[in-house]
Amino acid sequence: MNVAGILKLKDGDLITARPSDSLQDTAQTLTSHNIGAIVVTDEKGDLRGIISERDIVRAIAENGPHSLQSDVKTFMTANVVTCGPDDTVAELMSRMTEGRFRHLPVVENDALVGIISIGDVVKQRIAESELEVEAMRGYIASG
Ligand code: AMP
Repeated sequence: MNVAGILKLKDGDLITARPSDSLQDTAQTLTSHNIGAIVVTDEKGDLRGIISERDIVRAIAENGPHSLQSDVKTFMTANVVTCGPDDTVAELMSRMTEGRFRHLPVVENDALVGIISIGDVVKQRIAESELEVEAMRGYIASG
């Protein structure tokens, strides 16, 4: 299955933050939606960065709890690696492993259309493995 197929199986809107949002508000959004990262967009909806729970932990560890009043722009990663609707699960896994991150925003025709997390990738990989096992069992039983 490719990214477009995974996105179809996911429900819910894409959660975004603005560069001027506070880390405190962003931490609350991460918690209330039970997610680990949020894409940062400008007023036109263009991708400006990504901020994950790891960035917030690092901000607090390095600058203390008052950094929760700082804005997202200060601690987000601006150089975002993305994926496209036609990318495969194997390509996502290798991009996440190489980049050492767990989230990939999906961009189609220059527009942000979703986000894939490592949880989505693992879920899909397990489903594919189970299908392969079933097919193998069927093949052995029929032999
Ligand atoms: P994560 O593992 O996704 O929580 O992110 C770990 C670090 O990588 C954080 O500093 C994120 O801002 C950054 N990061 C997460 N996803 C991406 C991405 N797709 N492209 C570039 N950096 C990312």
